Amino acid sequence: QQPFLSVKDLRVHFSTEDGIVKAVDGLSFDLAKGRTLGIVGESGSGKSVTNLTILGLHDRRSTAIEGEIVLDGKDLLTASERELERLRGNKMSMIFQDALASLSPYHTVGRQIGETYRKHTGASKKEARDRAVEMLRRVGIPQPDVRVDDYPHQFSGGMRQRAMIAMALVCDPELLIADEPTTALDVTVQAQIMDLLKDLQQEFGTAIIFITHDLGVIADIADDVLVMYGGRCVERGTKEEVLRDPQHPYTLGLMSSMPSLDGPVDVPLSPIPGSPPSLLNPPSGCRFHPRCAFAEQVPGGRCATERPLLEVVDGRGSACHLTPAQRRELFADYAGTR
Ligand code: SF4
Ligand code: MG
Repeated sequence: QQPFLSVKDLRVHFSTEDGIVKAVDGLSFDLAKGRTLGIVGESGSGKSVTNLTILGLHDRRSTAIEGEIVLDGKDLLTASERELERLRGNKMSMIFQDALASLSPYHTVGRQIGETYRKHTGASKKEARDRAVEMLRRVGIPQPDVRVDDYPHQFSGGMRQRAMIAMALVCDPELLIADEPTTALDVTVQAQIMDLLKDLQQEFGTAIIFITHDLGVIADIADDVLVMYGGRCVERGTKEEVLRDPQHPYTLGLMSSMPSLDGPVDVPLSPIPGSPPSLLNPPSGCRFHPRCAFAEQVPGGRCATERPLLEVVDGRGSACHLTPAQRRELFADYAGTR
């Protein structure tokens, strides 16, 4: 049986003035309906590019894509712009970090939600307005029958984010891509939005891709996790597998820069030293090697010369030259020194 969404060996390269950026370099994953895949990584890891490519929102002229993206039996990479347009908002939909950028300041919130609905269903204006009110109610906007006529600037940041979610879900999409949708919000609103997404998923069986740089968010919302670094997946598994037993040094580093929920709040975070790799001239071998605390433990300097392959068994795997025994010992020591 075909998975609902299947991405196979995806490569996304685009040309810039400085050369070819290899933003995504051989990424594969599946997603079933009703599941949430968390994609985690720093900026420039390729997580946003992956999802813009799924949505067909990349710049076609400057982008070279290889591999396969199949959504419910439909090959998205060979789909025409018109087909993609039809799928977007209807079958697949997205929410971004910045609701203001997604909502037009010139039209009421209700009109924008309603127009998306009309475009895909051919509903009347009256039906579209009713639907907008219903969606606003569903995402927890108070007095939706009044607020439906407000402009985005009349909404608070949290309400705008809810309105954007309402717009994304107005046609009951089967795939929702959420790219850091709560990053700009305060903790309370953030938690509310996450709960809202979980409820909506329960209700509609939506498949969700949730993109974040924050493993705490992953712990809250994901079923499965894909850790990206330098355009490649370095580790994947269920949330429990990855968070309880990280196998890749990069994941370990991300975890130790995550504030502990029960620990004292003023403990300094320990972000991974160094900066994300250049995707114009990515490091040779393992792309993480210039920042990896364990590269010297692998004999023969292999980390700098040989690409570690991602071997996945039953959805679980990591791409690192360390042996399981080395990893157990080194990771335990690393935790001990913190
Ligand atoms: Fe570190 Fe080497 Fe593993 Fe890469 S392959 S994560 S450099 S130990
Ligand atoms: Mg991003």
